[in-house]
Amino acid sequence: MISRKDFLERSAVLGLGAALPGPLPRPLATDDAVAEGGRTAPGGGGGLAVPLPERFDPWVEVIPTHLRANLAEVRRLSGGRPVLAVLKNNAYGLALDVAGPVLDAQEGIWGFAVVKADEARSLRAAGVTKPILLMGMFDPDEGPELAELGVQLSAYTPDAAFRLEAVHARTRRPVEVHAYLDTGMSRMGMPYREAAPWMAELAAHPAVRLWGTFTALTEDPDFDPVQLRRLREVVAEVRRSGADPGAVHAASSNGVFHLPEAHLEMVRPGIALYGSYPSRPDEERRMATLRPAVRLRARVVRVAALKAGETIGYGRAWTAERDTWIATLPVGHADGLPRAAVRGGRVLIGDRTYPLAGAVTASHVEVELGPEEPEVRVGDVATLLGPDHPDVDPNRQADAMGVSVYDLLMHLNPDLPRVVV
Ligand SMILES: *Cc1c(COP(=O)(O)O)cnc(C)c1O
Repeated sequence: MISRKDFLERSAVLGLGAALPGPLPRPLATDDAVAEGGRTAPGGGGGLAVPLPERFDPWVEVIPTHLRANLAEVRRLSGGRPVLAVLKNNAYGLALDVAGPVLDAQEGIWGFAVVKADEARSLRAAGVTKPILLMGMFDPDEGPELAELGVQLSAYTPDAAFRLEAVHARTRRPVEVHAYLDTGMSRMGMPYREAAPWMAELAAHPAVRLWGTFTALTEDPDFDPVQLRRLREVVAEVRRSGADPGAVHAASSNGVFHLPEAHLEMVRPGIALYGSYPSRPDEERRMATLRPAVRLRARVVRVAALKAGETIGYGRAWTAERDTWIATLPVGHADGLPRAAVRGGRVLIGDRTYPLAGAVTASHVEVELGPEEPEVRVGDVATLLGPDHPDVDPNRQADAMGVSVYDLLMHLNPDLPRVVV
């Protein structure tokens, strides 16, 4: 629970002058941004967008101490392997320019994996210095720029050598590459049956420095071992041909938890770093303690009494079964709250949690406070996701809403301000 006083104190600690009037914080490139209530300069350990103390609009909080604790748990589970942290989709909602610098400073982090070229650019703009692997496609025309930014490229097409030569012709340095193998996911990667000769050629190519080899597991417990065997066979064949496949990696968070044989030379988790359990939370909670590193918050904008039989929302979506009180939160599906949130989602206000009710519209959702005269007031902070209560834990919320915890985090609107706490 964050009070207005907390906000002011926290802002004072950060030297950010929270009481400054002005427009909503937005990313700014210079140190002046701090004085204006914007984000810190790149490399400053994460963006700081301090909401005005009177702010009602939703915001996202990022908790670096939890990111670091989750990383320690991931490392423990994976026997101290170097971590290639997956920062795709706006760092699972935490914001690339916030989560990136925090993780970059951690010893256990070897580098970062992203899916889109723009994500790699954003990480560099935020001051991230460690290697970045682009797991998605690159255009030969943008390859040189990415290589200069220290972005390692993924190769998986039959014409990969040709595409990489075009990059090399402009940079005049061997292009750092990871070979992406399709061992059964059938989404990205060179099909494993054709991979060994193709990789051997790539490894021997003067334009290329084969830095690693990787695959994506389907996370089907019966099929993952088959995929791993295919990966191992290709790697062994490449080695027999005298070529070096580089660091081999396969384990996402699911593999970190459930598949020690997939830890290989490096692990490649995403969601566990952000504090959510990947596959089987009940079982995984016994293996490690992850703490959500993200909060979704807003302030109550309305409290009202409803008579039994009165309804909420378009199409009168929800009917009060008794005389009751409702609160309105200015968070809706455009902010990333799934429409299904009213089917079991809860919200923490003060030290109590309440059911979401009514309907999720673009910018609003309601909360049922119950029949008694409520303690909740306009201006109270409401936490929809966070580590503060088991009911608002992202895993619990996703389960209750019948959505994936991945969707819940990754759909947080990137335009919501991120506040480092
Ligand atoms: C997203 C992704 C990961 C990380 O997955 P988590 O389940 O979030 O740990 C790893 N590898 C690839 C190829 C991915 O796309």
